[in-house]
Amino acid sequence: MTLDPVLAQIDADLDAATARLLDLLRIQSISTDPAYKDQCDAAADWLVDDLASIGFDASKRATPGHPMVMGHTGDDGTHVLFYGHYDVQPVDPIDLWDNDPFDPQVEDTAKGKVIRGRGSSDDKGQLMTFVEACRAWKKVHGTLPGKISIFFEGEEESGSPSLVPFMKDNAEELTADVALICDTGLYGDSTPAIITQLRGLLGEEITITGPSLDLHSGMYGGLAMNPARVLAKVIAALHDENGAVTVPDFYDGVPELSNELAASWDDLRFDEKEFLGKVGLSEPAGEKGRRPLEMIWSRPTCEVNGMISGYTGDGFKTVLPSKASAKISFRLVGTQDPHKIRENFRKMVRDMIPVDCDVEFHGHGASAAGQMSTENPAFAKAANALSDEWPNAAAYVGCGGSIPIAGHFKTVLDMDAMLIGFGKDDDAIHSPNEKYDLSSFHKGIRSWARILHSLSKD
Ligand SMILES: [Zn+2]
Repeated sequence: MTLDPVLAQIDADLDAATARLLDLLRIQSISTDPAYKDQCDAAADWLVDDLASIGFDASKRATPGHPMVMGHTGDDGTHVLFYGHYDVQPVDPIDLWDNDPFDPQVEDTAKGKVIRGRGSSDDKGQLMTFVEACRAWKKVHGTLPGKISIFFEGEEESGSPSLVPFMKDNAEELTADVALICDTGLYGDSTPAIITQLRGLLGEEITITGPSLDLHSGMYGGLAMNPARVLAKVIAALHDENGAVTVPDFYDGVPELSNELAASWDDLRFDEKEFLGKVGLSEPAGEKGRRPLEMIWSRPTCEVNGMISGYTGDGFKTVLPSKASAKISFRLVGTQDPHKIRENFRKMVRDMIPVDCDVEFHGHGASAAGQMSTENPAFAKAANALSDEWPNAAAYVGCGGSIPIAGHFKTVLDMDAMLIGFGKDDDAIHSPNEKYDLSSFHKGIRSWARILHSLSKD
């Protein structure tokens, strides 16, 4: 089956594809707010109908939360599972939107046409790139290259409570040769990216208590132990003077960057001055002697996310607080074991707590890093297909954040996942005035058409 007529069909159908996306964007599928339950259901129905209209065996599947959407077509060749999510973030603060977030529009901007509305980039616009590519293949050839399954979730923006149980209950139906996940972005504006490593995340909340009540710092200060001082000491001790994390055995399982990946990351010419300049900073503050891209993609971190103690209101109060707490998180890489690190961190902190103080810990989730095996030939095929569509060659990149779905495909279904997306840094996902570039939508559809074509060939 030839690719060129499929690409021509995509070009000719762009206006209709955009209209379909606008239709889906009008549905207010905010998953975290129970008031929008029916709207989530309506978005799932819309997708089932649309997939059925292009010949998928499509169904809405109940969960204890919002429904999943499944679709299957084709019965031989490489089996590909595509994942996206149809739920969206709340729209607050609504007064910062220039338009109704659920009355999406195509807008002309200085940087080209954009589709504006909640979910346009995250993730309805992205998931429709794949559906539209399938539609074009069907229209031109009557069939798709290979066996395709589609899996849409409606709880991604609210913690995915039903996801793993659903995967376990439907493991056979969901398992394919490779999973495609479209919920990420390009590197820069025009370099297509395949994420091959994701950092894990470990959260810890510590509360240090001392005196049985807040004290007057004139009457007790100097004699009584101050938990805020103890907390400050603990936090200061978490990094050494070179920016390395001091938790015992923290670096067990942290791999060195391969020469190959190091060279390809250097080719991306990441400009840390510009990256930091956008947020009012100028100097990398991570481990000394590491590339800036390593600091955000392939090195583990420890960060303080919040500190609470004493009087924090207006004015001044000479209090000696009875307790002090902090929220601390670790980004993990390689085979670092989150549970071992939690244990070692807690022991390190306990050993620093003086007489008359106590410490309590509260854990907030622990997920290991994800590392895709690029040995799977699907990676090279997808990279070549993307390089054919975009002005720059595709890059294998890291992701500093955590995208749990990729890990679930590996651990629950033993499947490699390719994270490919066409979002841009300025899409304002989760923020007011979210947008998706019309060119991202168009080239995204063409990219999937090419990827499906190349995956189907030996
Ligand atoms: Zn998303």
